[in-house]
Amino acid sequence: PEPPAVAAVPQAGDPSLTLLGRVGVVDPASLDDYRAHGGYAALRRAFALGPAGVIREVTDSGLVGRGGAAFPTGRKWQATASRPDRPHYLVCNADESEPGTFKDRVIMEGDPYALVEAMTIAAYATGAHTGYLYLRGEYPRALHRMRHAVDRARARGLLGDDVLGQGYAFDIEIRRGAGAYVCGEETALFNSIEGYRGEPRSKPPFPVEKGLFGKPTVENNVETLVNVLPILTRGAPAYAATGTPGSTGTKLFCVSGSVERPGVYEVPFGTTLGALLEPAGVREGLRAVLLGGAAGGFVRADELDIPLTFEGTREAGTTLGSGVVMAFDDTVPLPRLLLRIARFFRDESCGQCVPCRVGTVRQEEALHRIVERTGADAAGDIALLREVGRAMRDASICGLGQTAWNAVESAIDRLGAYA
Ligand code: NAD
Ligand code: SF4
Repeated sequence: PEPPAVAAVPQAGDPSLTLLGRVGVVDPASLDDYRAHGGYAALRRAFALGPAGVIREVTDSGLVGRGGAAFPTGRKWQATASRPDRPHYLVCNADESEPGTFKDRVIMEGDPYALVEAMTIAAYATGAHTGYLYLRGEYPRALHRMRHAVDRARARGLLGDDVLGQGYAFDIEIRRGAGAYVCGEETALFNSIEGYRGEPRSKPPFPVEKGLFGKPTVENNVETLVNVLPILTRGAPAYAATGTPGSTGTKLFCVSGSVERPGVYEVPFGTTLGALLEPAGVREGLRAVLLGGAAGGFVRADELDIPLTFEGTREAGTTLGSGVVMAFDDTVPLPRLLLRIARFFRDESCGQCVPCRVGTVRQEEALHRIVERTGADAAGDIALLREVGRAMRDASICGLGQTAWNAVESAIDRLGAYA
């Protein structure tokens, strides 16, 4: 089979638990090959357990969302499943726009039927008969492979009116994003599917109650969904035995920047940042690592013993986010890098609310002045950055504005940028 565009490097101890186990091994165009490698065993078990049994397994596994926010998946599924109003929808968020994130792409390109199967299980458990796959517009190969997989699954009775002959109807519609970062925010994504401008809605109400077309909706990231396959094939206790009590299972990390072997690495939660980076080959002169992407934060080169868990990174004052691990050596000019991040947020702000619309502009201006050494002194601009950053974090409608100052703040406080 054709290899994925980005290297995928499974690292987990137990091969049957890996999310990348089939990537680069199966032919992504062949449903038969997928089935020959264990495909559709999880859906069969789901039908044997029934919807409530599936939700129990997912809850007991301790699975939390892998898009970045780590919300408990079982709780989300239960909340939608128990809503009396119909229809229910399933939405798979494959918009993957966080700078430095490319793990969902590897799954969709390398193991597309896994996502089709996982979406079918999630929909069955939560009472949905239609699922939307919202796929990043800049992923043409993933789009092609997912379209093919959905068509083949439908032709073979694995989607449609009678999935696997079990009397359950489910189908998948694929929608392409058009390049807006904000459309990865779940409610902006719903607006985009519904044909409106991609602007976030205020939460609550949460999508589990009032989501796509105003109906109860489960929205999950690609990686979150494919975790359901090992949970069902191995059982929740075996799944939860990997990782730590607070962060169960394995995690995909997107390693890039100043490393010899960039790619997607799968490791059990609890692996240290240093152990993750070792096989990637960190270059001499490592200065900092950006964890969690532009919305995340920097850690110093002497902090590589941070355990990669949700609780461990929280304790260390940083975040795992969507699994970005971007290494920077001392040849990278930090002030220009921060200016680039600020430009990104200014560009991508949808402009709906003032703190983010104005704050991202002010942030970029201040960083530009510091880089160019024009106007006010750096100390005055840093004070302004803190004030603007606080306002964006406290008063923005959505995560974009709330996190637009994270990377800059961590660079100032942890790395001593501009000192
Ligand atoms: P959030 O904490 O608001 O919500 C997380 C999920 O939990 C959502 O689906 C939300 O609907 C649900 N939820 C929260 N509280 C709930 C409740 N009480 N009842 C039911 N459901 C509830 O976070 P968010 O704004 O959806 O996401 C922010 C994260 O997204 C950040 O951590 C960031 O790292 C990440 N992110 C990822 C990408 C990417 O490309 N993967 C891009 C941008 C941002
Ligand atoms: Fe739009 Fe920014 Fe407000 Fe989010 S925080 S709604 S991106 S203006």
